[in-house]
Amino acid sequence: MATQTHQTFCRICESLCGLDVDVDNGKVVDIRPDNNHVTTRGFACPKGLKQHHLFDSPDRLKQPLKRVGNNYEPISWEQALGEIGAKLQRLVREDGPDSVGMYVGTAAGFGVLHPIFAAGFMNGLGSKSMYSPASQDCANKFAAARLMYGFPFTQPFPDVRRTECLIVVGANPVVSKWSFLQVPNPTREIKDIQARGGRVIVIDPRRTETAKLASEHHFIQPGSDVFFYLAFLNEIIAQGRIQPNAVEMHMRGLDEIVDLAGTWTPEKTASVTGIEPGALRAIVKTYLSAQGAALYSSTGVNMGGNGTLAFWLQEVINAITGNLDRFGGTLVGMGIIDFPRFAVKNGLLMDDDRSRIGDFAKVNNAYPGGIMADEIVTPGAGQLKALIVTGGNPLLTMPNATRLRDAFEQLELLVCLDIQQGETASLAHYVLPCTGPLERPDLPFVFPLLLGLQARPYLQATDAVVPAPGEARDEATIYLDLAQAANMPLFGSRVVQRLLMWLRNRHSKKNPDRQPAIPQKLLLSLLLRITGNGGIGRLQREPHGILRPDHEAGSFLGKRVLTEDGKVDLAPTTLMAAAHDLTADFDRLRDERGQLRLITKRHVKTHNSWTHNFEGFIKGKGAQTNHLYMHPQDAKTRQLAAGEMVDVSTDIATVRLPLALLEDLMPGTVAMPHGWGHQHNKGTRIASSTGGVNVNILSGDGPERLEKVSGMAKLTGYVGEVSKSPTGQERSWSGI
Ligand code: SF4
Repeated sequence: MATQTHQTFCRICESLCGLDVDVDNGKVVDIRPDNNHVTTRGFACPKGLKQHHLFDSPDRLKQPLKRVGNNYEPISWEQALGEIGAKLQRLVREDGPDSVGMYVGTAAGFGVLHPIFAAGFMNGLGSKSMYSPASQDCANKFAAARLMYGFPFTQPFPDVRRTECLIVVGANPVVSKWSFLQVPNPTREIKDIQARGGRVIVIDPRRTETAKLASEHHFIQPGSDVFFYLAFLNEIIAQGRIQPNAVEMHMRGLDEIVDLAGTWTPEKTASVTGIEPGALRAIVKTYLSAQGAALYSSTGVNMGGNGTLAFWLQEVINAITGNLDRFGGTLVGMGIIDFPRFAVKNGLLMDDDRSRIGDFAKVNNAYPGGIMADEIVTPGAGQLKALIVTGGNPLLTMPNATRLRDAFEQLELLVCLDIQQGETASLAHYVLPCTGPLERPDLPFVFPLLLGLQARPYLQATDAVVPAPGEARDEATIYLDLAQAANMPLFGSRVVQRLLMWLRNRHSKKNPDRQPAIPQKLLLSLLLRITGNGGIGRLQREPHGILRPDHEAGSFLGKRVLTEDGKVDLAPTTLMAAAHDLTADFDRLRDERGQLRLITKRHVKTHNSWTHNFEGFIKGKGAQTNHLYMHPQDAKTRQLAAGEMVDVSTDIATVRLPLALLEDLMPGTVAMPHGWGHQHNKGTRIASSTGGVNVNILSGDGPERLEKVSGMAKLTGYVGEVSKSPTGQERSWSGI
């Protein structure tokens, strides 16, 4: 058969780049950027263009696996579903539904049906024990948004197409792309802002790839972001630059905010942030003099220990200066429906349960991942005894992974749904093979689809480009079948379960040569129709996507704020109370001056923990391991040289890896990329032959270590020691 080209879109990161995919004989043979895509217009990165090598790997899971002793044996779907279903029934009967937990990973979030069916499955079991990776990188934003705007997914984003001043704090969009915003080509956007006379200011402990493109860059001490925002706020108040009309009409709590910012002068905060008062005042001046300015932050702030307070203050600044809901400032998108209003009305994503361990409030219906080990090892009602991990790899991405691994070994049942057998799946009792992104029909995921978190709104649908290999099945079908096997109906409704089973069986009968599946396209089409957006056919006739109406300024304040009185709460009680502890944090940071602080770093060819199993992504000098990056001055002080092995220690663990020197770092800061340390996994031969260590075993878990409001783990900005490895041995170790 001749090679056919399909248009689709990448589902690895939030950029969702349009792709042209060449398929020959059921195999992807080439991927190119889609030059005609309505917004991404020919942009894509190496990960998206080579992703098929990950999905076509000989290590790809093609059959259900069962752990027998230390080995894994292929079993039939019937056996896997039957045995898992029976164990789930017993656990729910004997220990209660909350004894069964689920961890919904990032990869799950990049499909539409997967997270819906996963949540529906837990709903059917009646279990509240949901966990997600959000408490590793972004739960702070959801927690603050719920308190300020009334719904966690109400997330204002910078209007990058029109802004005159963009201040990027703890984010590196040139490499990591934007977060909570779909912007196809960050480099182009940053250059465009400056080409039209605007300023891009980067605040980061490293002169990042984004900082090098920006108008200016300022170093900041890791973990001190909240004090940068406090000083920023203090200066705005001192200059009398609050916009009274917007505040009076649409916000409440200004007096409390003014009180809070009162003593945090730029002079005071400079001692912990490292940003001189004059420099801070100049940044504020640039922000205030722009016709439309936005503060934006991401993981560097989120994971730094005070992410919720820092993000809240950022939002307060954007709001009280009149930049919220303004072109060039921050906008609040609209998806294919007014999802926040629908969700609040129907109580979606608004659970108020509190955790058994640590009394943490759920964020987006999920408990913090950092208490999962405690929930497993602590006896009592609600003790976690089984876990389903779907599209995630918590053993490599969660804090204190060594302890988590010990806890996972105590589980009576660990089931992983994945495309490859990574670290977590290498410990599972059952591994269920799933579809890769190019093997399923889809719509853009929830951020663009339901919330309009896009620089330029558009809609696109894709068909499956190639069939899934072997016996791999889509996750929605797996959850439907698992619910049937456990005799617990999806979404808690026997009617829904029967209807979906009927659809599944009918669809499977029509396609006898494929694995049984629900008609995914039909369900996606239904979703579009019930939200008044036509069927999927209309979208498929426009394979490069169709533009939706552009964002509107002035469409949020007074109209879509979902707090009880419809006003933005600038000073939620919970956050004000947490802010009173900041003095102790400030003192601690000041006392710890001179100690090394660890930050993260990302490489353009790797994505979290799952892209090291293709030679093309790890080839080249030094690309087979992560390194500890250190400023040459710090290395000289410690008599360390590039290439030698060093031990990095915290109060939790020590890891050993090679040293690399990097002048771009703020002295006193060291950086270590995450996602490495695959030596112990059983199913990814290329990844497990790499060196490298898992940085996350250095950070703490448990209720005392997590941020109180959002449950965020502190995965950046913590103190660590670096010393020459005593043995000098080449072998790296990851601790798990
Ligand atoms: S930037 Fe790369 S990984 Fe992200 S969506 Fe685009 S091609 Fe995929």
